[in-house]
Amino acid sequence: MVEAASLLWLRRDLRRADHPALAAAAEGGRVLPCFVLDPDFFDDAGPVRQGWLAATLTALDEAYDGHLCLRYGDPATVIPALAREVGATRVHVSTETEPGGAARDRRVRAALDGEAIEWVETGSPYAVTPGRILNHSGGPYRVFTPFSRAWQDHGWRAPAAEPTGLHLVTAGSDPVAWQRVDAALTACPIALPPAGERAALDRWAEFRDEGLHGYDGHRDRPDLNGTSQLSPYLKFGVVHPRTLLADLTGLAGKGAQRYVTELAWREFYADVVHHNPTSLTSDLNPLGLEYDDPGGAFDAWREGRTGYPVVDAGMRQLLARGWMHNRVRMITASFLTKDLHAWWPQGARHFLDHLIDGDLASNTHGWQWTAGTGTDAAPYFRVFNPITQGEKFDPDGDYVRRYVPELRHLPGASAHRPWAAADGYADGYPERIVDHAAEREEALARYQRARNRP
Ligand code: FAD
Repeated sequence: MVEAASLLWLRRDLRRADHPALAAAAEGGRVLPCFVLDPDFFDDAGPVRQGWLAATLTALDEAYDGHLCLRYGDPATVIPALAREVGATRVHVSTETEPGGAARDRRVRAALDGEAIEWVETGSPYAVTPGRILNHSGGPYRVFTPFSRAWQDHGWRAPAAEPTGLHLVTAGSDPVAWQRVDAALTACPIALPPAGERAALDRWAEFRDEGLHGYDGHRDRPDLNGTSQLSPYLKFGVVHPRTLLADLTGLAGKGAQRYVTELAWREFYADVVHHNPTSLTSDLNPLGLEYDDPGGAFDAWREGRTGYPVVDAGMRQLLARGWMHNRVRMITASFLTKDLHAWWPQGARHFLDHLIDGDLASNTHGWQWTAGTGTDAAPYFRVFNPITQGEKFDPDGDYVRRYVPELRHLPGASAHRPWAAADGYADGYPERIVDHAAEREEALARYQRARNRP
């Protein structure tokens, strides 16, 4: 008797280990792992994240010994056709909870209706699927700390075992899909980190063994290599957060506890988006603030020419590496929204265009948290001072000098105040485009006016 076949349609779960949907598919018989390069998503990703996805798919194909079936087009057409082609009776997926992906899945399910092909969802990109953690009144949490507590109390499943004796089905890929992948690799403007599950797990092991004990003290320091830098892998599910959480179980120390809390932020923002899908494009907490079009100042911000060293180092790190340290993401986001008075989506779009970890929920709500329109409980008085933040979190100026060559001649912390050095501008570093003290007052006045408005 021929065993039944299933499609394992991969999306934000580009790995083999700890993969509940793969385990469920394998239980039912033969499996065809497939990915659909959907122009609706791919064309919008920008060359940096396209490059990262392309590198990740290439590594995944190797992990499947060349058996990953890559197709190009609208999944609502491609998936039913592929299922018919290989005689699949089931389509297995990890649940997608982001609004765009969930809407696509509804279309694919509608297209499968009447085809005698079952749609099976198992697991999700999160330790706890968004929507499950509710407060005592049965509603969603809007503030992080109580969510994090409830999320930890709720707990998560143990990692899924990798199926043994996996029986793979093969089906040809679309040449055009691999051509798009190759083109994205060639066009990618930055040097990417090593891609794939092995690289992700190696990075995690290195961080767990060498970085975790110092994480609580070092995680705010952009000059140190103090964070895991796993966000690009988490973005496409190359590693699942549950794998990391299982490894952290029983580890004593503040570092391990802090890491669990940071993973909870990712889960929290996904939960917020699940309950408030419109918050991806508009304020979660509309304050009615007055905004400016920063005009040319936006270009100075994007290109790292604001005259504030830590802001410029961060913006240049983003362009050079497709990644930025979390503390500096907050400082640069605060500068755009509170010193230049821009509305956050303008900056969020720029981040998404350049981050390899660009994630709709974490990015949008990282921006809204900083801008004061999101999940923060008492936001209006928080205006990051880009000078003192730089001095506090990059105390020797190493981070600034790494990314801003025009300041390399300034020793130690003096790199944060070129205006105070006789030769501060000798190598062409730009003067400050705004006066932070004055713009801080302006930002606070705008918050006050918004609060006083009936
Ligand atoms: P670690 O410190 O090692 O943390 C481990 C993991 O915890 C991260 O990989 C991430 O998955 C999660 N995490 C940590 N901090 C946060 C946080 N504040 N919010 C959500 N998850 C968190 N993160 C993204 O993954 N994609 C984004 O597009 C993104 N945009 C951001 C935009 C702004 C304005 C801000 C302030 C933050 C943003 N973050 C984003 C969150 C955070 O900056 C990154 O997750 C973190 O810098 C990734 O580096 P890491 O893996 O070394 O983090």
